[in-house]
Amino acid sequence: MTSPASAGDWPDYAPIPPSALGATLNDQGYYVGRVERNLYWVTDNVYESAFLTTPDGVVLFDAPPSIGHNLQRAVDEIAAAEGVSNKVTHLVYSHHHADHGAAASLFEDAVRIGHEETRRLLLRDGDPARPAPDVTFGDSYTLEVGGERVELAWHGSNHTPDNIYIHFPDHDTLMLIDVVNAGWVPIYNLNLSEDVIGYMEAPDTALSYPWTHFISGHLGRLATRDDVLVHQQYIADIEASSREALDSVDPVPYYTHYWPNVWAGVKAHLDTVTERAAAPVIAKYTGVLAAADIEAFTTTTTFLIMQSLRLDRGHLGPVHP
Ligand SMILES: [Zn+2]
Repeated sequence: MTSPASAGDWPDYAPIPPSALGATLNDQGYYVGRVERNLYWVTDNVYESAFLTTPDGVVLFDAPPSIGHNLQRAVDEIAAAEGVSNKVTHLVYSHHHADHGAAASLFEDAVRIGHEETRRLLLRDGDPARPAPDVTFGDSYTLEVGGERVELAWHGSNHTPDNIYIHFPDHDTLMLIDVVNAGWVPIYNLNLSEDVIGYMEAPDTALSYPWTHFISGHLGRLATRDDVLVHQQYIADIEASSREALDSVDPVPYYTHYWPNVWAGVKAHLDTVTERAAAPVIAKYTGVLAAADIEAFTTTTTFLIMQSLRLDRGHLGPVHP
């Protein structure tokens, strides 16, 4: 492990906007709050999880290891206050990633539910902290526990191939993890996402559901429909800016300069396109979305979208005569 040599090595950033501030954590480092009726959310101001209390037990949605044992503490706190069971009987995986699921093994008696691709990926990855789901589904699954109903649906790959939509129709809430960060820009590479087009289309799918409350998985507050719209605009601005930069930067001088080192030409050309595309977006969203001025986040996301424009959308230029 290394550390910055002195305080002067720490870069400075714009203050995060008040809209990005998280919850007030208790002494144990978590906050638990009611979303609606018997649906609750838990956060450590970086990760978010949710749970539903029912007469037959508690249904937990994701088990981020950063919240870890505080998940059961949050359940205990609410169950005691509401006079209901604190036994986690069901655990739903939003997707296979460890940062949202690696406290699953703390609830080994629970019935685990997830997409069939989540099961395949968890069996592949072989992490004992994330036992594979027992109950799987392909397109959709209605989970009914203790008189409560939750609709799980898969609408194609996005952040990961297995990331699902968790709709609580009787709680006016949607949970979709790792696409929108409430009040913050996505971190590197579209929030470390695998399918650029799928990721870019996911907010539209999310908005096609009826809901008021949105559990995004990050950071320290629930999201609104407006948060999703601001995120969509940020992504749309990157796409528009990338198209413009691809069209306006002439690649020939970069390749000519470095010939015959073609890869050096590629780097110089694509870095120029990326920087030109990202700069106006960074300027526009600094002060609007927290961490927009951490340039590497917007720059790496811009690079991926620009590459997707080329490779998925065919925005390449004319075919050789
Ligand atoms: Zn993830």
